Amino acid sequence: MTMTKLVDSYERKIDYLRISVTDRCNLRCVYCMPPEGIDLTEAGNILRYEEFHRIARIAAAHGVSKIRITGGEPLVRKGIIEFLASLAEIPGIEDLSLTTNGVLLKDYAQRLKDAGLKRVNVSLDSLQRERFQKMTRGDNLQDVLDGLDEAEKAGLTPVKINMVVIKGFNDDEVLDFALMSKTKPYHIRFIEYMPFNTQEGWQRDKCLTMKELKSIIEDRLGPLEPIKDSKGGAGPARRYRWKDAPGEIGFISPVSEDFCGSCNRLRLTSDGKLRVCLFSDSEIDIRKALRDGSNDEEIERLLFKAVAEKPERHHINENIFKKCSRTMSLIGG
Ligand code: SAM
Ligand code: SF4
Repeated sequence: MTMTKLVDSYERKIDYLRISVTDRCNLRCVYCMPPEGIDLTEAGNILRYEEFHRIARIAAAHGVSKIRITGGEPLVRKGIIEFLASLAEIPGIEDLSLTTNGVLLKDYAQRLKDAGLKRVNVSLDSLQRERFQKMTRGDNLQDVLDGLDEAEKAGLTPVKINMVVIKGFNDDEVLDFALMSKTKPYHIRFIEYMPFNTQEGWQRDKCLTMKELKSIIEDRLGPLEPIKDSKGGAGPARRYRWKDAPGEIGFISPVSEDFCGSCNRLRLTSDGKLRVCLFSDSEIDIRKALRDGSNDEEIERLLFKAVAEKPERHHINENIFKKCSRTMSLIGG
């Protein structure tokens, strides 16, 4: 095997792999899934943990140092703790994180930490019980809040909270979320509502931009200070804090201000497709090679092929853009 690093056609170094380990979920968020759920992939077509591990090991040998586990809901897949522990042992993997809806986090937090997980991102879009129910079609707000506490206690830090802001739905709670950063060491991330194949339907005017959100917050709660290293290693969020606050807030704005120029990601879906861009349906099948006896060089070749096919940027803001055919639950975010 060569040791060449994964670098795409636009000189972007690809060092971050997001693995979606399941398409199943214990919630049905309105912006992600229809109420009855989605047609699930046949179990045999979902990659086994050892198959994910093999890809991660080969990717790590080519410069991938960060892995995020996502889903569906990753904590509903059996054996997740052992899988994480096996990933944490791969040489070169420095950062192992997980995105979860938090429903099961309370019971898992300490075991996740012990397995070698560094930190968690918890998706939470409302702090009001009825609103939470309406958005997720589940009555689990208290479970998620308990999960946040446990994650902090277990040292899965910084605990990040991802809030997808949808105009007319939960935008009246933006200040409550921002305020949490003044009392808790949480990193609150406001995420623009993105166009995926959802029942609810995406409309541009439901998406609040980073500029709009920031001015709503600053008008009411005072000026924010930018966090200096907001370009370095912290991902796509523009980060801010209030002086002396234990937490911080950040904006992830793929729709209004794309961050494609610094994209360092490759995504692997639970059914074994390498997805080259969150917003492009262009995918490379890696499952076949994993199952037909192909050697590591072939897996390596497919990784390089996917990286070479990464587009320069997404086209959400252009007329040619078609909504992605997969839902977020099938990509992993
Ligand atoms: N189930 C886990 C969770 O909810 O955190 C992991 C998978 S979920 C697909 C990953 C992230 O995608 C979540 O933070 C969710 O809020 C976000 N997401 C789903 N659909 C979205 C959309 N249309 N626009 C913006 N974010 C979305
Ligand atoms: Fe499930 Fe996460 Fe999608 Fe909500 S956003 S339905 S929790 S996969």
